[in-house]
Amino acid sequence: MKTRLLLLGGTTESLALADRLAGDGRVEVITSLAGRTVAHRLPPGHLRVGGFGGAAGLSAYLREERIGLVIDATHPFAATISRNAAAACAEVGVPRLQVLRPEWTAGPGDRWIEVADMTAAAAALPGLGATAFLAVGRQELPAFAGLEGIRLIARMVDAPSEPLPLGTWDIILARGPFALADEEALIARYGVDVVVSKNSGGAPTYAKIAAARTRGLPVVMIGRPAPPPGKQAGSVDEALIWLTHTLTR
Ligand code: NAP
Repeated sequence: MKTRLLLLGGTTESLALADRLAGDGRVEVITSLAGRTVAHRLPPGHLRVGGFGGAAGLSAYLREERIGLVIDATHPFAATISRNAAAACAEVGVPRLQVLRPEWTAGPGDRWIEVADMTAAAAALPGLGATAFLAVGRQELPAFAGLEGIRLIARMVDAPSEPLPLGTWDIILARGPFALADEEALIARYGVDVVVSKNSGGAPTYAKIAAARTRGLPVVMIGRPAPPPGKQAGSVDEALIWLTHTLTR
C-alpha cells in the first residue's frame, strides 16, 4: 500500500516535488495550499486548499487522513505553518522534512543593509532615497505605512485585498520568475533608489538583487524567521533522498 505524503506547498519546490513524485509507486501525494493567491499551475496528484485550523487542526488532519509522511516545502517566510507542522508531526509521530532553499548571500558590489523583520526594514528606509521598490508581498504593506517623503513601488502577485495603508503607492501586479534586464528596466523606469526584499533565496526572484548591484543601489534585506528544529533539505533532490531513506527504514 502507498504511503500518504502531505506536501505543504505554495513554492516552486513543492510543485517540482509533486511533479517528480507523480506516478511514484511508493507514495500518494496530497499537496496543501493556503489558497491566498491564485495558483498559476496546479500540482499533479491530490490537492487540498485552505488552513487546517492551527497545529491542533493539522494534528487532527494527519490522523484522519492517515498521513504517513510530511514534507514542508512552504516558503522560508511562512513561519506559522512550518511551526504548526513541526508541532503536529511531533504530536502524531509522523516523520517530517522541511525543504529550505539556501539563503542569498551578499557578494562583491552588493550594498546590503540586513534587518531582522519588516518593521526594521521600514525604519531603515529614511535617508536611503526618495523611491523604494518593495518586493515583499501584499500582506507586508502595513509595515510601510506613513513613511513621509518616500514613494513606495510595491510589487505583488495579486492586488491588495485591503485598502492601501497611508502613503504614496504604486502597485505592480506580476508573478516571477523575473529577468535581470526587466528588473533593471523597472528600476530605471520608476527611478528606484533602494530595493527592499525578503531573503527568500532561489533563482526565480534573484534578478532584483542583481539589478540593484549593477545599478549601485542599496538593498534592505530582511532576514528569515528561525525555522523549527528538525530535519532540513536544501533542494528537491535532497528531499527525494530523504524520502527514499525514510520509506526504506
Ligand atoms: P504562514 O503565515 O506561515 O501561515 C498562516 C496560516 O496560513 C497558517 O497558520 C495556515 O492556516 C495557513 N497556511 C499556510 N500555508 C499553508 C499551506 N501550504 N496549506 C494549508 N494552510 C496553509 O504562511 P504565509 O506566509 O501567509 O504563506 C501562505 C502560503 O503562501 C504558504 O503556503 C507559502 O508557502 C506561500 N508563500 C509565502 C510567501 C511568503 O513570503 N510568506 C511567499 C511565497 C509563497 P491554519 O493555521 O488555519 O492551518
